[in-house]
Amino acid sequence: MSNNTPETCTICNEPVKDFEIIGDRVYCKAHASGLFASIPPLWHAQSAATAVLIILAGVLAFANATATTSDLVRLIFSITTAFSPLLTWLIILFLMSLRRQMTISTQVITISAISMLVAAAISRPFLYQFVGLQEWLTAANPINRFVAHITIESSIHVLVLYAILRFAIWRSEQFVRVNDGYVYALAAGWSYASMLTGLDSLDIGGYTILEGNLRILTQISAYVSVSLVIGLFIGRNRFIDMQPYYLPAGVLIATGLLGSLLYAATELNRIPLNLSSDGFSPWPGFVVNLIGLLITTSVVSTLSRRFNRSWQARQGAA
Ligand SMILES: [Zn+2]
Repeated sequence: MSNNTPETCTICNEPVKDFEIIGDRVYCKAHASGLFASIPPLWHAQSAATAVLIILAGVLAFANATATTSDLVRLIFSITTAFSPLLTWLIILFLMSLRRQMTISTQVITISAISMLVAAAISRPFLYQFVGLQEWLTAANPINRFVAHITIESSIHVLVLYAILRFAIWRSEQFVRVNDGYVYALAAGWSYASMLTGLDSLDIGGYTILEGNLRILTQISAYVSVSLVIGLFIGRNRFIDMQPYYLPAGVLIATGLLGSLLYAATELNRIPLNLSSDGFSPWPGFVVNLIGLLITTSVVSTLSRRFNRSWQARQGAA
């Protein structure tokens, strides 16, 4: 569409005469053409990091049966478990984008660093020292624990993740595609989860090889599932005029999902193995959260492919 009065591009803020209107917003030709581009390296990175989660669970089960556990070994296992999915995600994202000559902004690294910093310096002190979440959860009955997971714990994590993205990247000229919402939300999610769980394990000098470290993998799965949901909502909201309830709905869905997964993660592992022996299995919480991650990934990637295709078709028809 062209016009005699110049309008301002939503992304670069340059006045443009020869502009396109997409979802009631103005875009220059360059930014309009790439808006719904798919980012295959993102899904490669996502698959690789998820595979590492699953492989680590196997390695931990094997190591549990064989390794002698000194304090140092436990610490090394916990830190490796907490950070290797994130490192895999970052390395595969940049390697695959180099290979396909796609641009992934180095802002991803900035978002990752900010998320780790916020997890360490804000979320943990606030939840553990100020709110006293652990004491609260230990004392509560199952129903109150469920409510606490959703209303206190998850709402804070989701708001923090959302705030990081809103303030660090929302208006950036490095946020140019709807799918960049996933890139930045996942960079935040993997990093935030690694730091939270890594520091939790450091607090007690390294977790037990299987039970403790499986808890790390379980929680990472929950945070990453929720980042996918956040990525879907912020990507669309940044570039298309959505209904006013759209973003709040996204935050609510993300909070409900995180609360349910974190609740399942701890609660399912409280179920005794069987009636005749003591002890609890560390696996049900992990399996449920991993399935949660796989389902969220497939639902979100299908929805985003469909969304992008329908907008590209509209653009082609215009
Ligand atoms: Zn532009």
